Amino acid sequence: MITLYRALLAATLVSAGGAAIAPTVITRAHRDQEQQQPVIQRVLDETYEKYRTLKEGKNADYIPALAKVNPDLFGITLVTADGKVYTAGDVSTQVSIQSISKVFTMAKVIEEQGPEQIEKTIGVDATGMRFNSIVSIEFSQKSLGGPEMNSLVNPGAIATTSMVKGSSATQIWNSILSYYSDFAGRPLTVLEDVYKSEAETNQRNQAIGALMYAYGYIKANPAQATDIYTRQCSVGVNAKDLAIMAATLANGGKNPVTTKQVLTPDNVPYVLAVMATAGLYDDTGKWLYHTGLPAKSGVGGGIIAVAPGKFGVAVVSPPLDDAGNSVRAQKAIREIVARLHANPYEVRPRAVASTGSR
Ligand code: GLN
Repeated sequence: MITLYRALLAATLVSAGGAAIAPTVITRAHRDQEQQQPVIQRVLDETYEKYRTLKEGKNADYIPALAKVNPDLFGITLVTADGKVYTAGDVSTQVSIQSISKVFTMAKVIEEQGPEQIEKTIGVDATGMRFNSIVSIEFSQKSLGGPEMNSLVNPGAIATTSMVKGSSATQIWNSILSYYSDFAGRPLTVLEDVYKSEAETNQRNQAIGALMYAYGYIKANPAQATDIYTRQCSVGVNAKDLAIMAATLANGGKNPVTTKQVLTPDNVPYVLAVMATAGLYDDTGKWLYHTGLPAKSGVGGGIIAVAPGKFGVAVVSPPLDDAGNSVRAQKAIREIVARLHANPYEVRPRAVASTGSR
């Protein structure tokens, strides 16, 4: 029974991303897909129920507005690469996107300037340090002798925002916001109270921006880059928006709900690689160990994960652990990935003995 379940689900998930499958397989896969829809919904419902009353973790409070968000908010959404949407819990209340935004600004810069530019200017390596580490800048500069950071921690993210093309701050900001909106499939807006609260208290990020400028990672106007970065972190999203954004990455850069091609398919692997390397800050290794999936968290309480060719999944739950990652979101996505057998490293040995010569 379990084997049958696994086979059906594997066929469903493979079929969602497979473009060039033989016609007979497509027919079977379609049938399997129909049968699997209730399975995905059941997995989401049961995961929601399992963690609904979990009280671990604490809202971020270094940005005062985040401390006021309802810690009981809990929503899960999974969107398949062919655009089917599954939800459990509260998937309409918005939180600030925070660091998850870093993925989409990086995607924009890769799209505008090519993947080499990010590698050369910022780096694509894990720092192994906290997301707002100043030591990581010094270490990269003094001990590693160059750009050995990434766009998903604050120094690299502020520098990445400074690379977005535009002739004025307004133009740069509008192009970032409309890019995020294309990923989400609806016009997103800033949560002004969060922006104001962070802008008043982001002296550390201002210092990071200034240091990145001093070392030449930011070419001009670090204060503007830090301000636009702060604004991008304050964009409001719910679990459904986040899952559609993740599913767009799972579907070769094409939003599976609106069908708009947002990111060139060839650029998607670069984005996912940095997420796999640094998406959960200094706990990314632990995350990958358990899920095998590229992901990104934000201190607003959201986490997205991408099963390439299969689905995007997102959970929103504000209380965080010490590394700054949502406790319930990590547990819920781990559970969903395990139950749907979506870890790409989970491969069963071939059943048929080889007939080829040794
Ligand atoms: N805006 C937040 C900051 O810069 C984002 C951090 C996060 O989500 N980890 O501190």
